[in-house]
Amino acid sequence: MQKPEPVIGIDLGTTNSVVAVVLDGEVHVIPDEDGHNTQCSMVAFLEDGSVVVGNSAKREAIIDPRNTIYSAKRLIGRHFDSREVQDAIGSLPYKVVKGRNQAPKIEVRGERFGLPEISGMVLRRMKDIAERYLKQPVHKAVITVPANFDDTQRQMTKLAGELADLEVLRVINEPTAAALAYGYGRDVDARLAVYDFGGGTFDITLLSVRGTLFEVLSTAGDTFLGGDDFDDRLARYMLLAFKQQHGIELTDLTGVNRLKHVAEKLKRELSRKERAIVNVRELARTETGGNLDLRFQLDRSGLEERCQDIVQRSFLVCDEALREAKLAAADLDGVVLVGGSTRIPLVRQMVGGYFDQPPFTDLNPDEVVAIGAAIQGAALVSDPFAEGAPPQPLLLDVTPMSLGVQTVGGYYDVLIHRNTAVPCEQARVFTTTSDNQTSVRLRIYQGESRTVADNTQLGEVELFGLRPAPRGEVQVEVTFEIDTDGLVMVTARDRETGIEQAARIDLAAGYTRDEVDRMMARSHQDRS
Ligand code: AMP
Repeated sequence: MQKPEPVIGIDLGTTNSVVAVVLDGEVHVIPDEDGHNTQCSMVAFLEDGSVVVGNSAKREAIIDPRNTIYSAKRLIGRHFDSREVQDAIGSLPYKVVKGRNQAPKIEVRGERFGLPEISGMVLRRMKDIAERYLKQPVHKAVITVPANFDDTQRQMTKLAGELADLEVLRVINEPTAAALAYGYGRDVDARLAVYDFGGGTFDITLLSVRGTLFEVLSTAGDTFLGGDDFDDRLARYMLLAFKQQHGIELTDLTGVNRLKHVAEKLKRELSRKERAIVNVRELARTETGGNLDLRFQLDRSGLEERCQDIVQRSFLVCDEALREAKLAAADLDGVVLVGGSTRIPLVRQMVGGYFDQPPFTDLNPDEVVAIGAAIQGAALVSDPFAEGAPPQPLLLDVTPMSLGVQTVGGYYDVLIHRNTAVPCEQARVFTTTSDNQTSVRLRIYQGESRTVADNTQLGEVELFGLRPAPRGEVQVEVTFEIDTDGLVMVTARDRETGIEQAARIDLAAGYTRDEVDRMMARSHQDRS
């Protein structure tokens, strides 16, 4: 029998990406030409017009930061005016501009790119790595996203896959993938916590695993908590040390940025060693032109003392997830670690303390998500009735954010509460609010605030052709659906006439069909 074409699993990360595949029942994390399993999620636009993606782009980030794009995941699918994008703009060296419909765009070497295009280039690099390894073309993928990605972010990630000529069979949540990597095929009957501490975000997901059934019980996160906080904290101490050593304040932005880089290296070194020393040369100049260096040394306990509160903040989020799932920390049977920051010994130790058991450390926290994606990918194309076929995992996820509509006065009426199992559907009847009203427009939001202004607008649906009548008489039934990819669909139906208006939520921070076609054309033109 012919084997199905391999499906790759891609962990499209903020800093790094990983690709994996299942071959003959075994998971392979795929190395690049240089033997590296992780790839920088970076795209460098060189002066001669060529584009370099992945680990080779890292060099460019240092020598040409304005034309090297990284952290695209922090921006993808978000509104230009959102706090996340504005914060990112403040710290990113490349230019982010406002595109149509609030979509942020990257301006580089006189051209504007949508975020899905940048992520698409990273995905294409991962596809190329897989094709080289497998010695055959690859067309299908499962891509992972953070559990708290909203509809627009998921859609844009899917579009990025399409721009890389990949058919995205499924978009799955990173923690669910991690649980799959740990529990699939091991006949586990357990409640797991997936503790994901990355560069810029923290997420916790609680799951129940019974054989092939992976059921998410709750998920919570903080989009402003991660390894960067350690770097900022250490950089601040370095600034103080600089002032102490030279009696002057370091204000030059390039110098401060260099210190953040050094702080990150120092932090990593302290995960391996008890003590580390850094020498930063020529950090600033005196008025007379002399060079000022910084010598800074720190031992692990010093880092732990200074950064304990950062780890502590993650437990507030864990408390919230436990509350939602109506569980206590001691009810969990295992803790899976994901993300680079879980390599910090203090994190492991404090996580062990919080959950009252040491976390699992046998899986590589950088690879575990891609492994899960590959397992899901293989299961999606295997014939479940074939002899020796792998058992199909069943993933029951939850929606990380409440979904609702705007009501009078800017209030928010929730239709589907966060942590509801997906796929799900919820209908509600609305009535007209003015006499002879012949159309209704629903503004759709995701988020937890009572006022829409603090939530994210996904888009809107308009239903026309209502019968003119006194207000309150015409009824419109609105159905909200969230599918297994976490994508939202809204249908509005005039109860009297049966006229229906369905809309994929593709207005806010999204693209028109024309724009997508243009991106698609450009992605192919770049290949030729
Ligand atoms: P991720 O988003 O999962 O790739 O995680 C990236 C974050 O992990 C960054 O903040 C890194 O500085 C951090 N990180 C990676 N390796 C280590 C390490 N060995 N020790 C401490 N932090 C690390």
